[in-house]
Amino acid sequence: MKTKIINLLILLLTSFLVINSSSTSTINHLNDNSIDYNKSNNFYLNQDISKILEIIQMVNETLILGYLEDLVEFSPRKTGTYGCERAAIYIFEKFVEMGIDTKVYNWTSFGNKYNPGVFSGKNIEATLNGNNKKDEIIIFNAHYDSVWISPGADDDGSGVAAVLAAAYVLSKFEFNRTIKFLCFSGEEVGLLGSKVYSKSAYENNDIILLEFNADMIGYAKTDEDEKKFRIYGTQDVDWYVDQIENLNIQFDFNFDLTRGILAEDRMGGSDYYSFSRYGYEAIAFFEGQWNQNTHTINDNIENMNIPYLTKTSKLIIASIAYLSDMFIDHPFIHIDSPDKGYLYFEGKKINNLRDKKDEQLRTIVFDDIWIWVDIHSEVNSIDKVEFYYNGRIQYTDTEYPYKWRMNKISFFNHRIETIVYDSEGNTASDWIDILFFNPRIRD
Ligand SMILES: [Zn+2]
Repeated sequence: MKTKIINLLILLLTSFLVINSSSTSTINHLNDNSIDYNKSNNFYLNQDISKILEIIQMVNETLILGYLEDLVEFSPRKTGTYGCERAAIYIFEKFVEMGIDTKVYNWTSFGNKYNPGVFSGKNIEATLNGNNKKDEIIIFNAHYDSVWISPGADDDGSGVAAVLAAAYVLSKFEFNRTIKFLCFSGEEVGLLGSKVYSKSAYENNDIILLEFNADMIGYAKTDEDEKKFRIYGTQDVDWYVDQIENLNIQFDFNFDLTRGILAEDRMGGSDYYSFSRYGYEAIAFFEGQWNQNTHTINDNIENMNIPYLTKTSKLIIASIAYLSDMFIDHPFIHIDSPDKGYLYFEGKKINNLRDKKDEQLRTIVFDDIWIWVDIHSEVNSIDKVEFYYNGRIQYTDTEYPYKWRMNKISFFNHRIETIVYDSEGNTASDWIDILFFNPRIRD
């Protein structure tokens, strides 16, 4: 009952804000820029659109090119080399200059099977705290390391320039949710920096609603290439990719967007995979046409398309700003226990299992165990949570806290999936693969 009242209040507040924002004089003024706000009938903007427009206008080619030129100066930026460390210091100093709360996390980690050996690097994190939903985090990240022979202008100087530009512009505004700007190293040798970061965020129970990944977003050789942009999101945030499509039209970017789904259980080509393997939602952006200079000496500024990079950055930054303020009418679900990557015995968390970099996280459970889930739903109430074992439904819970006792005879690996349904029929799911040893059914 209490949640129903809260939801009602939120709905009332939403409608108030919509009425309020559409009646401000800034909207009329902004119409001078000949943007037609009624292009799509199903587009429901529940926030002040003039703020997004102002943000888009503040991202420009001079800003983006400035960051990109500086980064390329430090090339090559292979993880652990002096150039990479210099790039880290540069990024840190830029965030500090912007007046954003900035932290540096040093990490040391083993590379993947293609890059054996020990690597050390720094994750640079700048945090813009949210006003009234501070605990809810939106991440925008890119990687500043490159391969040994490459200037890494597109891969991934382009993404880092976009992250810096985003921090520069968005730090001049206030948002409801917290936005974290992250620059990782170690990406090219096994997504190392982001793996250390996402593991610690997961263990810290950080509420990361969505991670935005920009890796190679500034290459376009032909007029045709310039029209294209690719967006891949995890299944549960496909609805937000719809919103990005709407922003693309509403704000006249008019990219011909290619959409795809990021499979959470498949090895990924960029840092988003470090987040999605823990069940976090992710959206990854890529230029429309594959850059044949990738990982070569020709991935330099001359081969970049700065107007295109500025435009792709604008759309990403608008998407982040929009999400940071909106009322989210879709649920999020997260398996709270058991934790991915751990060994459990009689329901107790015993040990962290070694992370084999190129594979799924391993979770091992001896004896029966309760599967607990956490739900995040801002606007709608929750109808039910379903629990599946190897694709077969086992239990439906309708009362908080949502949980199911997994008490079956087992000696093998099983996939446990949970699906939440809200009152509007929106769904979200999370899953965990468990190597489950339980020789008998327990009382
Ligand atoms: Zn990359």
